[in-house]
Amino acid sequence: MKKNTVVIGAGPAGLTAAYELCKHGVKSTVLEQGDRVGGISRTETYKGYRFDIGGHRFFTKIGEVTDLWYEVLGDEFIKVPRLSRIYYDGKFFDYPLSMKNTLSNLGPINSVAIGLSYLKARFKARFMPGPEAENLEDWVTERFGERLYRTFFKTYTEKVWGIPCDKIQAEWAAQRIKGMSLKKAVIDAIVGSSDAKTLIKEFDYPIHGPGMMWERFQEKVQDAGSEVHLQTRVTRVDHHNGQIQKITAQTGDETFELTGDDFVSTMPVTALVRCMNPAPPEPVIKAAKSLKYRDFLIVSIIVDQKDLFPDNWIYIHSPEFKVGRIQNFKNWSPAMVPDSSKTCLGMEYFCSEGDPVWEMSDEDLVKLASKEIRGLGLMNAETTVEDGTVIRQRKAYPVYDGEYRQHLQVLREYLSQFSNLQTVGRNGMHRYNNQDHSMLTGLLAAKNIMGESHDLWEVNTERSYHEDFTKEQWADLKKKQDNVKREPLAV
Ligand SMILES: Cc1cc2nc3c(=O)[nH]c(=O)nc-3n(C[C@H](O)[C@H](O)[C@H](O)COP(=O)(O)OP(=O)(O)OC[C@H]3O[C@@H](n4cnc5c(N)ncnc54)[C@H](O)[C@@H]3O)c2cc1C
Repeated sequence: MKKNTVVIGAGPAGLTAAYELCKHGVKSTVLEQGDRVGGISRTETYKGYRFDIGGHRFFTKIGEVTDLWYEVLGDEFIKVPRLSRIYYDGKFFDYPLSMKNTLSNLGPINSVAIGLSYLKARFKARFMPGPEAENLEDWVTERFGERLYRTFFKTYTEKVWGIPCDKIQAEWAAQRIKGMSLKKAVIDAIVGSSDAKTLIKEFDYPIHGPGMMWERFQEKVQDAGSEVHLQTRVTRVDHHNGQIQKITAQTGDETFELTGDDFVSTMPVTALVRCMNPAPPEPVIKAAKSLKYRDFLIVSIIVDQKDLFPDNWIYIHSPEFKVGRIQNFKNWSPAMVPDSSKTCLGMEYFCSEGDPVWEMSDEDLVKLASKEIRGLGLMNAETTVEDGTVIRQRKAYPVYDGEYRQHLQVLREYLSQFSNLQTVGRNGMHRYNNQDHSMLTGLLAAKNIMGESHDLWEVNTERSYHEDFTKEQWADLKKKQDNVKREPLAV
C-alpha cells in the first residue's frame, strides 16, 4: 500500500497512529508544534530534575494498549506502588479510603452523619427516584449522600474546573468515577480488594517519566522511514470537495506546504476548525468559540531535603490553599532526580488562561508554592526551597459544561464531510481521555486508513468500545508485569 499520511501532533494519539501505520508499511509525516514529543504526557527537565505535566500513571484495561507499551518500552517500565492521600481540614485521609483512618479523621459524630446522609440518598434513589441527574453535584449526591459529597468531592472538583459542581455535566463524573460506590469502598476497606483492583494500587511508569515512552515511539517511527518535525505548527488546512488537499505549517520563519492521502489531527478540534480554508460556516465557528478548556500550571520546586513525604501525590482539597495536587517525583521513580539528597515537588495549580494565578510571574509562583508547602506542614521549618521553575499548559482539560455536547456535535457534523480526515485524541475529540483512550483512537484511525471501519467516537463512551480484560488477559498481563523491574518506593 503506497500512501502518505500527515499526522498533526506528536502526543500519544498522533504517535500511536504513526507507529501503527509504520508497522504496516505506510509512511507518515508528523508535525508537532512543541520542542519535544509527548504532548501533555511529555516529560520536562530543569537542571537535571525531570517532571511530568501532572504525574502520568500508565494503567489501562485495553489489551492492545498494554501490548504497545511493553512492545515499545520493554523492561524500562518500572512498577510503582501507589500511595496517595487527601489533605482536607488539616488532616490527611488515605486515598483510596481506609476505614480506620477515615473514621478517626472524621470523628464519630461526623462519621455517623455521613453514614445517615448516604442511607438517605440511597433510600431516595430507590423509593422516590427523580429524573436522571444532569449535573455532577446531583450525580454524586445521589450515589454517595450530600455529606460525603461536600467532604470529598465538592472543593477539589471545583478547584480543578473553576466552576460550581452544579454547572458540570454528570457525564464527566460517570466517566471518571464509574463503578465506584460507597458500599464497595467500605467493603474494600474492611476485607481488602479483589485481585483485579489491586493492580490499580500499583502502576507502570517509564523509569525516566512518560516522555520516555513517546521518545521511543518517535525513534521507532523515524527508524521505519517516517518523519517527525518538531517546532512545526499547522496553521492552515486547505480542502476542496470534501477532501483535505494540503496542510500549511510554520517552522521558525519558514512556511511550507504538505500534501497527503490521509490526515489525522490531534490538535484541539476548535483550533482545527479555525484553520480550515475555505472557512467553515458561521455556526461552526461559533460552536468552536463556545467549547471551553481548563488550563493548568505546574510549579516544580527543588527542595533541599531528602525525604518529605512517602506519597506519589497528595490531593489538596482544603480551599484555603490554591494548590490542587502535589507530586513527589522521586517517589514515582528515583531516576527523576539527579541528586538523591534533594526532592523535586510538582505543585499543580488548576487555572484558566488570564486569571490571577495564570498571570503571576514565575518568581511569584515559586514563592507561592514555597509558602503553601510550608503552610501544609509538609516541609521542615529549616529546609530551603533552592530553586523552581514553572510550566504552563494551555487546554489541559476539555470542559464538559451544560452546552458542550451541542457545540461538539456541530463540529463533528462539519468535520464528517471530509472523507480523508480523522480527528483523534483528547483535545482532537474534546474528550476527557487518558493516554490509553487517546492512543486507542490513534490506533483505530490508523486501522481505518488501512481499510478497517471503526467508529472512533465509540471509544471511551459509556459503552466501552473494547471489553474489559478477560481472566486470561489479566493472567497474561500479570505475567508480563511480574517480569518487570521493581523499584522500591523512595520514602
Ligand atoms: C494534569 C494531567 C494529568 C494527567 N494524568 C494522566 C495519567 O496519570 N495517566 C494517563 O494515562 N493520562 C493522564 N493525563 C491525560 C494525558 O495527558 C492525555 O490523555 C494525553 O496526553 C492525550 O494525548 P493526545 O495525543 O490526544 O493529546 P496531547 O497530549 O494534547 O497531544 C497533542 C499534540 O498536538 C500538538 N499540537 C497542537 N496544535 C498543533 C498545531 N497547530 N500544529 C502542530 N502540533 C500541534 C500539541 O503540541 C501536542 O503535542 C493527564 C492529563 C493532565 C492534564
